[in-house]
Amino acid sequence: MTDPIRRSDEEWRRILSPEVHRVTRRRGTEAPFSGALCGLYEPGTYLCVCCGAELFRSESKYDSGSGWPSFFAPVSDDAVELLEDRGHGMVRTEVRCGRCESHLGHVFPDGPEPTGLRYCINSVALEHQPED
Ligand code: FE
Repeated sequence: MTDPIRRSDEEWRRILSPEVHRVTRRRGTEAPFSGALCGLYEPGTYLCVCCGAELFRSESKYDSGSGWPSFFAPVSDDAVELLEDRGHGMVRTEVRCGRCESHLGHVFPDGPEPTGLRYCINSVALEHQPED
């Protein structure tokens, strides 16, 4: 992991579209089945839309039926950071980009082998880089 990226909210607002800003910097959630990457299974890497860090690979993507891109693992343990989220009357584990703290989604313990985890990630928080 390279150096952390920190920007003010004003800077992020200038760089990102309103919807991407809402989800990634305001911990929003996109509507299920609305994301462009939800049904995508082409080989490649999924990058943080805010900072370009490599977060997930196509090899760990699967169809959870949830309407959000789902992965059973990130590219590495330090690619993402996990935080307890007690919002909306639930206790969930928030997933953020390890480099720029972008809100990506949540991780749940109902995923497939080999990890048993489901990283439920907003499509707009990711950028798919096809394998060349
Ligand atoms: Fe990032």
